[in-house]
Amino acid sequence: MQDGRIRLHLDHPLCPGQRVPLDADQAHYLFAVMRLGAGAGLLVFNAQDGEHAAQVAETGRRGGALICGAQTRPPLPPPDLWLLFAPLKKARTDFVVEKATELGCARILPVQTDHTNAERIRQDRLQAHAREAAEQCGATHIPQVADLAPLDRVLAGWPADRRILWADESRAGAPAVLGAAGRGAPWAVLIGPEGGFSDRERARLAAHTAVVPVSLGPRILRAETAALAALVLWQAHLGDWT
Ligand code: SAH
Repeated sequence: MQDGRIRLHLDHPLCPGQRVPLDADQAHYLFAVMRLGAGAGLLVFNAQDGEHAAQVAETGRRGGALICGAQTRPPLPPPDLWLLFAPLKKARTDFVVEKATELGCARILPVQTDHTNAERIRQDRLQAHAREAAEQCGATHIPQVADLAPLDRVLAGWPADRRILWADESRAGAPAVLGAAGRGAPWAVLIGPEGGFSDRERARLAAHTAVVPVSLGPRILRAETAALAALVLWQAHLGDWT
């Protein structure tokens, strides 16, 4: 929420004067949970049209409508940064998705590695977490959360121009250095599971031309901490914090 106003993502064109229908979930949230009535103000946004003021025009149990007002924030696309991470236990995975959204990732790709402890993810639930995080943090873009895919397959189809910042635990203790090379280029951050990368994966990553291995300092971080630290390192050197 921004300045106390509810901020809702709407998958619908937004322009001043536009009437926007609400589905049952949105109506339930706005009218039953948040208790908004006709005439109440809120903020609505999407990646294409940015953020707009809006007013409740019609309330209902299974639907309703808003009237879209003036733009309050232009679209703010995140840098072209993906996060690849091995899913963790449920609450920690939710945490990674929430923080990756706040820190400005364009896409989130859960990957299965040799030592990944999770076999499945609930993609729809993670996507909903990303939406809630975007609603809360003022972003206009919601990162797309992909389905779980094996790391090998993801690397086999890897786009040639996208670099990979590989958080490599075997470098722990080396200086955490990331130069400015690759500014403006597409990137991804890769974080391993609690068990780390296998020798086979390490050899494959080390031989991959797109991979830039980095240390995240002298201590071994938990995977969710490492995800945050690597995203911050990248944003501070190459991303939209600079
Ligand atoms: N069990 C492993 C650690 C895994 S930590 C071991 O004892 O070596 C989980 C993931 O976080 C790692 O795969 C790596 O991607 C990242 N990570 C944690 N600490 C790191 C560090 N100091 N430098 C680089 N990457 C780190």
